[in-house]
Amino acid sequence: MPTPGAPTLKVVSHPLVQHKLTLLRDKDTHSGDFRRLCREITLLAAYEALADLPLVDTTVETPLTTTAASRLAGPAPAVIGILRAGLVMVDAVLELLPQSPVGHLGMYRDPVTHLPVDYYAKLPDEMARREVLVVDPMLATGGSAAHAIDVVKAAGSTNIRLLSIIGCPEGAAVVHAAHPDVAITVAGMDERLNDHKYIVPGLGDAGDRIYGTR
Ligand code: URA
Repeated sequence: MPTPGAPTLKVVSHPLVQHKLTLLRDKDTHSGDFRRLCREITLLAAYEALADLPLVDTTVETPLTTTAASRLAGPAPAVIGILRAGLVMVDAVLELLPQSPVGHLGMYRDPVTHLPVDYYAKLPDEMARREVLVVDPMLATGGSAAHAIDVVKAAGSTNIRLLSIIGCPEGAAVVHAAHPDVAITVAGMDERLNDHKYIVPGLGDAGDRIYGTR
């Protein structure tokens, strides 16, 4: 039973997710399959990450009668992708939420200060009224995710979730410390970061594997 008010970390234990994660980690999985697996894992994990989206009562006219029903409350949830690897997850989430507007955030780490620097930020309107899902395949140091959430909060958002394919304890701790109100969902929770800030066992560089670069 989660402690009320405590930061939330959900690891998706579904066998399909765990199976696909194994294929994704494999160093011999090529970019085409890697992208497809990212999309499939995102679809399954987003289902969990969005399980508590608020609903409102409505009615619907079926061919037979009018009946009580539910629909998502408020304007469509915003999907925010962290460039560049997050793009593959955005496309998957849009299959579940086709009405959703998409925001993009690009940032890099300043080599001297080690602080995140924005090089691109474009968010949908009405962020204060929307549920928000931030997506980035790798929750590594947590620096990019925490900074992306800072930017989303500065735009007025208060209901924010973070979805990653693979996380590690260090990254989850950084995001939870900065944003205890943000629920994190990951398909897999790995052991640790190595000295180069890669997740171990991980899957390598997600962006390079998605786009076939090195
Ligand atoms: N980003 C990646 O793509 N992979 C890691 O292991 C860490 C950060």
